Amino acid sequence: MSEVRMPIESGVPEMEPYLHPVLKNNYGQWAYHERPRPGVLHHVAKSGDSIWTVRAGTQRQMDVYTIRKLMDIADEFAEGYVRFTIRSNIEYMVSEESKVQPLIDKLESEGFPIGGTGPSVSMISHTQGWLHCDIPGTDASGAVKALMDDLYDEFTKEEMPNRVRITTSCCQINCGGQGDIAINIQHTKPPKIDHTQVANVCERPSVVARCPVAAIRPAMVNGKPSLEVDEKKCICCGACFPPCPPMQINDPEHSKFAIWVGGKNSNARSKPTFHKLVAAGVPNNPPRWPEVSTVVKQILSAYKEDAKDWERIGEWAERIGWPKFFEKTGLPFTKYHIDNWRGSRNNLNASAHIRF
Ligand code: SF4
Ligand code: SF4
Repeated sequence: MSEVRMPIESGVPEMEPYLHPVLKNNYGQWAYHERPRPGVLHHVAKSGDSIWTVRAGTQRQMDVYTIRKLMDIADEFAEGYVRFTIRSNIEYMVSEESKVQPLIDKLESEGFPIGGTGPSVSMISHTQGWLHCDIPGTDASGAVKALMDDLYDEFTKEEMPNRVRITTSCCQINCGGQGDIAINIQHTKPPKIDHTQVANVCERPSVVARCPVAAIRPAMVNGKPSLEVDEKKCICCGACFPPCPPMQINDPEHSKFAIWVGGKNSNARSKPTFHKLVAAGVPNNPPRWPEVSTVVKQILSAYKEDAKDWERIGEWAERIGWPKFFEKTGLPFTKYHIDNWRGSRNNLNASAHIRF
């Protein structure tokens, strides 16, 4: 009797069995593609085969009932094949044009907007948040849902100068990544230490090694081994909190949002860029985060009005100059925008050893 092979529970599965047959038969053999309307792509293969893709927005973190609903739509209206984009949009593939409109009607009637293609604001890519991660300072998926509700029209229409990619991150580690607009948590006070717990929970050498500016030292507090933070050095990055939860840095008042602009991964037209800080100290205000929406809408409306066709937000800001960017968006330029930190030369923890 052959041994039963156990499933491998890491990594993505081989995609080929899940490809729509038209995609499988024409893999790598496409002649051209077009966008007949926002949210719909039409690919034509060299063989003459055609396939239409309908893209709908989702809230990314979905309950099982929503996923079943989306799969039922795939079976009934879309030949049973779907895929998710890296920004959590769902895409349905159909091989006949006559199936496109009924599929769109069904998705819209169930509350899923059609769009996110071409020069639109596509779905915001966000980090895991409270569902999977142990260090968030806010609810990334909630902030995204609230913001996309406000940007609904910019998702369903292609009216931006070029595509707009927004990201959010719920701590300063920023696993949401670079974006045309990035919305990140920003801690503004050093961690408060619960000395009664440190010895029980934290591996002190790992915590000391984790700090990028060497601000943490071992210390005896009330006769117990604990840690202390040199608050003059601390840059409030939050890196000590994951390995040592008693170093509490999340704070309802002092953990704010910071908004950054101009990040770009692609090297089309200009090289990839890091984003730059444009708004600091924005309140972390659940459940709708209205102050974040206001800043994002200010940036988008100035960009839409002033940028040339095909300019990404960062390219537009570089062309007009950052002083003009602040003028046109109406965002205040404050002392927080001046990068005056000179600490790295003396105390940046720049050793090559791996830290966990
Ligand atoms: S951004 Fe930070 S808190 Fe949020 S999921 Fe990533 S690592 Fe976790
Ligand atoms: S790891 Fe970051 S938050 Fe913690 S003490 Fe060091 S600089 Fe401050």
